[in-house]
Amino acid sequence: MTQDASYPWRQPDATPFISIKNLSKQFGSFTAVDDISLDIYKGELFGLLGGSGCGKTTLLRMLAGFETPTSGSIFIDGAEMTQVPPYERPVNMMFQSYALFPHMTVEKNIAYGLKRDGVGRSEITDRVADILKMVELSDFGKRKPNQLSGGQRQRVALARALVKRPKVLLLDEPLAALDKRLREQTQFELMNIQDQTGVTFVVVTHDQEEAMTLSTRIAVMDAGKFMQIGEPAEIYENPATQFIANFIGSANFLPVTLIDKNQSTVQLQHEPSQKVFTAATDHKSPESELTTGQQSTMVLRPEKILIDKTPLTDCQNQLAGVVKEVAYLGKLSTYRVQTEIGITFEVTAPNQIRSQGIGHRIDWDDPVHIGWNDNSAVLLQS
Ligand code: ATP
Repeated sequence: MTQDASYPWRQPDATPFISIKNLSKQFGSFTAVDDISLDIYKGELFGLLGGSGCGKTTLLRMLAGFETPTSGSIFIDGAEMTQVPPYERPVNMMFQSYALFPHMTVEKNIAYGLKRDGVGRSEITDRVADILKMVELSDFGKRKPNQLSGGQRQRVALARALVKRPKVLLLDEPLAALDKRLREQTQFELMNIQDQTGVTFVVVTHDQEEAMTLSTRIAVMDAGKFMQIGEPAEIYENPATQFIANFIGSANFLPVTLIDKNQSTVQLQHEPSQKVFTAATDHKSPESELTTGQQSTMVLRPEKILIDKTPLTDCQNQLAGVVKEVAYLGKLSTYRVQTEIGITFEVTAPNQIRSQGIGHRIDWDDPVHIGWNDNSAVLLQS
C-alpha cells in the first residue's frame, strides 16, 4: 500500500465508503443530531468523540438502522441505507454492555448470528474457530461468559460482531467496562484486529485519549454538530476553536492583539501588561489571515512550554513567574505558574533527571522562567 492509499481522506477524488449527508434527528422539539455531513473511507477506524448527550450514540444508531433520521441520508458502499432495516444493512453493532448470552458458551455466543442466518454447520464451525484464533481465545470456546475476565468478554463480543463479516462495525464505547491498564492493552488489540479484517470501524467514545490512540480520524461532536473532523495529530496541534483545544488535552489561552506582521512572524501584544510575543506565520494557518489591530487568542499546550529556574535564553517568548502548584506524575510533572502578566500557565515537563533531593527540582513557591518558541502556539481568531 502506498502511503497515500492509507490516507484516502487526503485525496480529493477518493470514493467514500460511508457517506452521511445533511443528517438530522429530532426527538420531539429536541435536536439530537443537527444537519451533519461526513464521509468515512474503507478500512478507517473512525472515532466519534464528544461529551455526554452530544448525539454520538444517536448517530451510531442511525448508521445501524435502529433509529430513523428526521431528515438527510446515509449511503454505505454506494447503496442508500436510510430506509433499510437494520438486519438488511451490511453493518453490525457492538454494544457497550456486550450483550452476551450468559447461558451459552463462548462458541455458541459467537455462532448464534450465523445459525440464525442459516449458515451451514461445518462453515459455522470453521468461521467460529478462525475468529476465536484472531481474538486469541481459541482455548476459551467452551467457557461461559461469567467464567471470563472483562477483557476476554470484550473480545468475545468483538468476535461475535465480526464473525458475520460486516462491511461496517459500529462500536459504542467498546472499552468502557475495562480498567485503565486493560483498556490501553485492548486498544492495540482492537487496532490489530481492524487491520487484519479491513472492516471499517466507527467507534463512539467520550475518552479523548482513547480516540487519539485508536482513530485514523476523529469527529469531535458537541450539541449534535461536528466541531472539527481530522486526523488525531491535526486536531491536537491545530484545534479549530478554544472548545476543541480544551476538550482534547489541556491548553493555556493568552488574549493578544496583533501589532505587527512580516513574512515569517507576527508580533502580538497582551494589552493589560503591554508585553509583546512573537508567533511564526504559516501560510496555511489562520494567523496569516489576521490583520493589524485584530484580537486573537494564543493557544499553548502545556508540554510546549519550557520551565527553568534560570532565564530561557533560547526561547523567543519568555515570562517570569512563581510556581503555585506542582503535580508529580512520575515520568513528568505539571506546574501551575502565576506569571508576571497575571495569567496562570499550566506547564508540563518530563522528569528527565532523577531528582537529587530538595533544592534541585522545581518546587512550590520557586521563582521560575517559562518560555516557548515562536512556532509553538496556535493563534485562534477571537
Ligand atoms: P453519552 O455519552 O452520555 O451516551 P451521547 O453523545 O451518546 O451521550 P445520545 O445518546 O446520542 O448522546 O443522546 C443525545 C441527546 O438526545 C441527549 O440529550 C438525549 O437525552 C437525547 N435522546 C436520545 N435518545 C432519545 C429519545 N429516544 N428520546 C428523547 N431524547 C433522546
